[in-house]
Amino acid sequence: MEKEEIIQLLQAKGEARTALLQRAQDVKVKEVGNKVYFRGLIEFSNVCAKDCLYCGIRKSNDKVIRYEATDDEILDACRFAWENKFASVVLQSGELSSPAYVKRVDKLLQKIKQLSNNELGITLSCGEQSLETYKHWFESGAHRYLLRIESSNPDLYYKIHPQNDMHSFDKRVEALGFLKKAGFQVGTGVMIGLPFQTYEDLANDLLFLKKLDIDMCGMGPYIEHEDTPLYEFRHQLKTKQERFDLALNMIAVLRILMPDINIAAATALQAIDPAGREKALAIGANVIMPNLTPTAYREEYQLYEDKPCLDEDAELCRNCLEARIHVAGAEIGYGEWGDSKHFKSRTKEP
Ligand code: SAH
Repeated sequence: MEKEEIIQLLQAKGEARTALLQRAQDVKVKEVGNKVYFRGLIEFSNVCAKDCLYCGIRKSNDKVIRYEATDDEILDACRFAWENKFASVVLQSGELSSPAYVKRVDKLLQKIKQLSNNELGITLSCGEQSLETYKHWFESGAHRYLLRIESSNPDLYYKIHPQNDMHSFDKRVEALGFLKKAGFQVGTGVMIGLPFQTYEDLANDLLFLKKLDIDMCGMGPYIEHEDTPLYEFRHQLKTKQERFDLALNMIAVLRILMPDINIAAATALQAIDPAGREKALAIGANVIMPNLTPTAYREEYQLYEDKPCLDEDAELCRNCLEARIHVAGAEIGYGEWGDSKHFKSRTKEP
């Protein structure tokens, strides 16, 4: 697909849009099947050294009460995931790279593997680290990693991040390369509907994902947060509904461009439309991340406004999702890792 065609598709409305979404769904079912895989999401700490201009838990937001879940709390959530046949968990946190943090994640990985007989698959979403750290974590049992590029346009990247060494576009791209080198299934993605972002930027984002030959993608609408610098530009944004529709178009085009990758139905979709994640599953996504973060901490992990499920415990969450996924006409891959098919074919011995 050429850039021009992608730009057209991203703006598709009415019948053209219905056709796009249908085509994406057909490609998904044909290439990766109709199963949805669970990744239980544990947002284990909101302590963050970064100051991303869009994010509610940025370092400078002193309204946030910082927390670190205890090992027991994290392991309990993992046990819940394992016993309920979620098969995988995602460990996510604010971004730190101190030796203590690196070591803590490493220990947690080993404990999670132990408690689950090596059965739980582990995805990390713990930011930019050195190649050495990524290798350690891989050896300790993580096998997938999510690190969103946020925007593939360096100019836009520096409009939504401070311009300094801590927030370097080049380093983020380099980290994605390290992840591949360390052996991970690599996932990345962008925010959709950012201030200053054009359709051409988004088309380039999709081509960037294709060129990087990623295995997984998580991308969702940008949602403003009152206590962040980008909030100032809220009047320039597309409406939330427009951002939502555009996010679905992005997912659909990506599914057509990269038929055999895993695509997550981002939680941010649900902050706009209560059935947002199911809608994504029906047009190309095949992974969902039920929130297993201990309820007491959820208020303090608000990256954006209207984040859903703040008061819903893990059990409720599972029942709710199960019902929603059945409504979307898909089947849950209980007890299956549901690894990226793309990763398997890209790493197959010749
Ligand atoms: N610290 C980790 C995890 C980041 S949180 C890392 O740096 O990779 C996960 C994702 O939430 C981010 O990558 C970002 O794309 C998304 N996010 C943050 N603020 C957001 C906002 N205001 N609207 C929508 N998504 C947001």
